[in-house]
Amino acid sequence: MNIHEYQAKDLLSKYGVRVPGGRVAFSPSEAESVAKKLDTKVWVVKAQIHAGGRGKAGGVKVLRDIALVKPTAESMLGMRLVTQQTGPEGKIVKRVYIEAGSDIKKEYYFSIIVDRNTSSVVLISSTEGGMDIEEVAAKSPGKIIRVVIDTVMGLQDFHIGKIISAFKFTPAQGKRFAPFVKSLYKAFIETDASQIEVNPLIETNDGEFVALDAKFNFDPNALYRHSDIALLDDPDERDPLEVQAADFDLNYVKMDGNIGCMVNGAGLAMATMDIIQLHGGKPANFLDVGGSATTEKVTEAFKIITADQEVKGILINIFGGIMRCDVIASGVVTAAKEVGIKVPVVVRLEGTNAEKGREIINNSGLAVESASDLIDAAEKIVKAIGVK
Ligand code: ADP
Ligand code: MG
Repeated sequence: MNIHEYQAKDLLSKYGVRVPGGRVAFSPSEAESVAKKLDTKVWVVKAQIHAGGRGKAGGVKVLRDIALVKPTAESMLGMRLVTQQTGPEGKIVKRVYIEAGSDIKKEYYFSIIVDRNTSSVVLISSTEGGMDIEEVAAKSPGKIIRVVIDTVMGLQDFHIGKIISAFKFTPAQGKRFAPFVKSLYKAFIETDASQIEVNPLIETNDGEFVALDAKFNFDPNALYRHSDIALLDDPDERDPLEVQAADFDLNYVKMDGNIGCMVNGAGLAMATMDIIQLHGGKPANFLDVGGSATTEKVTEAFKIITADQEVKGILINIFGGIMRCDVIASGVVTAAKEVGIKVPVVVRLEGTNAEKGREIINNSGLAVESASDLIDAAEKIVKAIGVK
């Protein structure tokens, strides 16, 4: 789960990370009143969307005249901001962050991530701050410093020391940098984050280390331990179909192909997507209805798949284990009748009462094709949408 920059900064400041003063605003007049309360001579208006690259796209404005805050917020609120990270459709700006301008001496990059390859936490830092880290990695990989932390041991001074020496910091700089790293690491561990990215982390002319931007990513499986963080979710920032799916406890991820998939079990979902690709097709989504799919869930899943305009065909691949295939088949028929079928549908049922299930599908009067096995199903759906 992602949160907005202003929420991330609020959270980080509770852990002792220095951030500029500021507050979120939902309207131009609110932006103006926030600006008036800030003790500063430079104001920054920042579009709050769950994507970076705002600076280059016009989503960050540094202003030296307080009178410009209101009109700037006005033009930003409601705009469709397209950045390198939003995709061509961009994101609508619904909140702006008004913060005090910082006196930047140098910008650095600093992030903490969970590294699945080494099963550890890794600190990633660079003197090349402000830029996209992927760009730095491509152009000057030597400027990226990775420090691997054994989470049982936790963050130690020597980890921070490695960065301090790589950055060629003086002892005075190191003394001010270390608390920043410690606070950030504490925030990372205690919130069950999967990533915190501070880009840029700045050093001010007064020698302070300040998080000028902040991106937080949380492990959704640990959110039950953090009800306060779960509340920070902004459904506007997620795909509306994914929000709808979550409400019905369906695991749905939209992808860029055109064959909609309805499957039970994540393993079967992956196998189904693989076999579609193997036969020249491209899956439009990952949708796992779970082990206890009811007619209601199947109907909802059907609605979600068909709401995606890209979907040109649907492949339903269900293994009847605890669930019986005839129940699933009835669910599919009910759902298809309720929602209406406008694209070819292929159903493959296997497991308990599979024969009965196929009968229900074949006798439904619906233009639904049944398949005998996984390969047959993939071939049929790919052929139906005219890939081959
Ligand atoms: P993004 O990563 O989405 O482009 P950032 O928050 O990193 O957005 O801002 C982009 C740039 O804008 C920063 O690298 C910094 O140079 C400038 N900037 C952002 N916030 C401030 C601030 N409070 N004071 C001064 N400059 C800022
Ligand atoms: Mg940034």
